[in-house]
Amino acid sequence: MSRTIIISNRLPTKVQRAATGLTFQPSEGGLATGLGSIYRAKGNVWVGWPGLSVDDPAEQDHVREQLSADSMAPVFLTEAEIRDFYEGFSNSTLWPTFHYFPQYATYEQAHWDAYVAVNEKFCQAVLALAGPDDTIWVHDYQLLLLPEMLRRERPEATIGFFLHIPFPSYELLRALPWGTELVRGMLGADLIGFHTFDYMHHFLSAVSHLLGLPNHNGQVEMPDRPVLVDAFPMGIDYQRYADAAVSEAAQQHEQAYRQALGNAKVVLSIDRLDYSKGIAQRLHAFEALLVRYPEWRERVNLLMVVVPSRDQVPQYAALKEEIDELVGRINAQYRTISWNPIHYFYRSFPFGELSALYRLADVALVTPVRDGMNLVAKEFIASKADQRGVLVLSERAGAAQELAEALLINPTNTNQVVEALREALHLPDEEQQTRMAAMQQLVRQYDVFAWTRLFMDRLTYSKIKQHTLA
Ligand code: UDP
Repeated sequence: MSRTIIISNRLPTKVQRAATGLTFQPSEGGLATGLGSIYRAKGNVWVGWPGLSVDDPAEQDHVREQLSADSMAPVFLTEAEIRDFYEGFSNSTLWPTFHYFPQYATYEQAHWDAYVAVNEKFCQAVLALAGPDDTIWVHDYQLLLLPEMLRRERPEATIGFFLHIPFPSYELLRALPWGTELVRGMLGADLIGFHTFDYMHHFLSAVSHLLGLPNHNGQVEMPDRPVLVDAFPMGIDYQRYADAAVSEAAQQHEQAYRQALGNAKVVLSIDRLDYSKGIAQRLHAFEALLVRYPEWRERVNLLMVVVPSRDQVPQYAALKEEIDELVGRINAQYRTISWNPIHYFYRSFPFGELSALYRLADVALVTPVRDGMNLVAKEFIASKADQRGVLVLSERAGAAQELAEALLINPTNTNQVVEALREALHLPDEEQQTRMAAMQQLVRQYDVFAWTRLFMDRLTYSKIKQHTLA
């Protein structure tokens, strides 16, 4: 029987070390939900790193056993691999380059070597599980070399690859010493998916520049087989957000927040700490709103959730300081006895409280300078049962390609953000509802389950097409 194997850097379970031993907590991330029905089906498996270092062989056995009960197979990484492959090449070379921050990218041979070695390690783990004609779906930028490594060993396998971050213009890729190897690695797949057509076109352009391979209608002609390239904008579990938003718990949380904030309008922003998210630009724009339109003072609050992330990396630590400083200065300058302009949280929120924040917000202000997709924008939309609320969205988020009814802005154009924010705060209810209804229809229809289905169907199709051509 043919099986499906999902591979991503992290497993959809958080394994943590507690005083009493290891704990296992299922992750609620969108990918885990979307792929849940696949990897949990009989015989299928999800391969990935459990998220912490486990050196002791007995402990490794314990982890393996626990995870296998839930259709997962761990790949263990050493401390050195976590440093060089994960924090190094993945997060300090690929992440900044693919998000158009080449000035933050490091080019360390040792990090590249670790990247190759860990991709090889994942390859061995998959080979130990996969039969010759299994379906293999590889995810994201930590595993760009894996499709080709697998193809070498399993020429007949059906291999899909999906990139969850932007694929940058060829000019960014060529700044990397290893651009050609990375592109060749991805081409081991039968189907390569991106969130948007722009990323797909950047990839095809890189393939043609670096490898001289032609493409026709999104199909790359490899000597041994064609590779399909396509856009699959990822969705969310719409119903989960829609249901949570009307739950008793979310309404109670919302009421408590509302009491604390009085009648002021609420502008909400939620991101991981990351330089790609445009957090400082957003703060400057919010301050500019208070300066240009002082009538909004005491009548609007920015609720800003920043989820801690990668804060051992120097650029992230510096960004955290910049945000702390900006928030402190703006609040000190404009606050009154009864009003504090920015409510800033540097922590994560439980799902129920997030849902209440989405419910509460009059405006969601989503201003990344680069973002593969941005799920927060879609979660906000799904949480608006009364269809009131306005999304101000960066045109540089993948989500902007789908959400045409948002107020689209260029996040570095402070004037434009200020004006969009003002427009959002004044937008008549009826227009809010018209825009929200259109976006809800789209986000509901193309949810994460539809995304999974579309990708898997296309992968099957790519293989059938190869066989018909052969
Ligand atoms: N999120 C969360 N806890 C929080 C705040 C946010 O789990 O306290 C989630 C949020 O619901 C969303 C994800 O983090 O699903 C962020 O995804 P997005 O695509 O917006 O950005 P990424 O962090 O993947 O770059």
